[in-house]
Amino acid sequence: MAFFLMLTSANIKIFASNNTDEIETNMQEDIFSGHACAHDYSFDRNVSIISAPTFTEKGLLVRYCSKCGSGEYHDLYPLGDAKLKPGKYMIQSKCDTNNYVSVTPGQEYQGGNIAIYGKGKADQIFHVSPNGDSTYGFSYANSSNEVFMIDVAGGNFAGNVWLYPQNNMSPQAWYVVPDGEGWNTIVSKATYYVFDDVNFGTADGTNIGSYYCFPDDAQKYKFILLECDEHNWSPVELVKAPTDSEEGEMVYMCLDCCKTKSVKIPPKSKTITPNISLSKTSFIYNGKVQKPTVTVKDGKKVLKAGNDYIVSFSKTSKNVGKYSVKVTLKGNYKGSGTASYDIIPKGTKITKLTKKGNVYTFKWKKQSKQVSGYEFQYSTSKSFNKGKSTKIVRISKSSITKKKVKKLKSGNKYYIRIRTYKKIKGKKYYSLWSSIKSFKAQ
Ligand SMILES: [Zn+2]
Ligand SMILES: [Zn+2]
Repeated sequence: MAFFLMLTSANIKIFASNNTDEIETNMQEDIFSGHACAHDYSFDRNVSIISAPTFTEKGLLVRYCSKCGSGEYHDLYPLGDAKLKPGKYMIQSKCDTNNYVSVTPGQEYQGGNIAIYGKGKADQIFHVSPNGDSTYGFSYANSSNEVFMIDVAGGNFAGNVWLYPQNNMSPQAWYVVPDGEGWNTIVSKATYYVFDDVNFGTADGTNIGSYYCFPDDAQKYKFILLECDEHNWSPVELVKAPTDSEEGEMVYMCLDCCKTKSVKIPPKSKTITPNISLSKTSFIYNGKVQKPTVTVKDGKKVLKAGNDYIVSFSKTSKNVGKYSVKVTLKGNYKGSGTASYDIIPKGTKITKLTKKGNVYTFKWKKQSKQVSGYEFQYSTSKSFNKGKSTKIVRISKSSITKKKVKKLKSGNKYYIRIRTYKKIKGKKYYSLWSSIKSFKAQ
């Protein structure tokens, strides 16, 4: 578009930079040669960059007349960074705000043109990905093929913008330079040429070219964020508050792209008395730490350890004694409860029965660890019914391993058994009974 504005040498001044020495030299050549050249700068490959723009300084570009070789100078505006969030965007043209940067229909792959089309007439959604150096890649993703906008010229200037598979080269990297009023110039990192609506946004299918920077609307674009790659969620509406038993619902909105989502809120913490059951409530002393498996229920519902509750055991449960288990509810539940289990002493067994006169001597195996004494029973009842027929003998030293018994009634059958115990703070913890033995008194 800029071609037609350069009809006379006088017009040069309009676009001239402040590099006055160069310009005056060229003007003088024209004046003193005596025949003014109708300059032709249309051969845009006759271009070179005198100084590249930076983030604070303008750059300078020169185009040479293809007839006389004299130079025409143009500023390259300072770079900038619109700080675009990674995500999907539409890119609106300022020339005609109904027009958007588009993939030419049917040209979604390598070599496809980038053009402008009215809203909805073409594929107009591009993924913008920051490269980390204030430049961006613009890709069009269609199924598995992802193609990036490329400055075709790649150093030769004044080319089309088209699509090409990503090659990690600077012709696919673009600065997005904000003008402070919501519009941006899209500048090629390779050439400092910019996105240019070559036909001022007037017709569907007009190519986007890359051209040297002109301060006009054909080079101004707005990035409209459709969807962030990573949303910035904020709660905006409580649709339903949770109760003790029912979940609630909250709507969140992304503060950047305005997308919304609904999120379930778990029920409020419910206060219950947990139903605690242990895999075992009695363990036999074995010199090792022993703990039961704990199951916690809310009614019939089995709760989940870690999520719904934590279990703490009172102390190292190794020796004979009573141990407590504390269940503390958490998460959706509140409350606590305890259960307990015992570790009982190891039992013993009767090893020998001898008779001398009418005195019977019973011997048993000694148990010295975690045992205070023994309880020995003999009875004419096989089930050791309480009463006269069952005698209980307590031996309060674990080192004693025999007992003499007199006055057994001749002819009766007697049953005998033994168990150990440990006394802790006045409470006796008994072992299991030994197996029952029997003999006939004579
Ligand atoms: Zn010329
Ligand atoms: Zn978002």
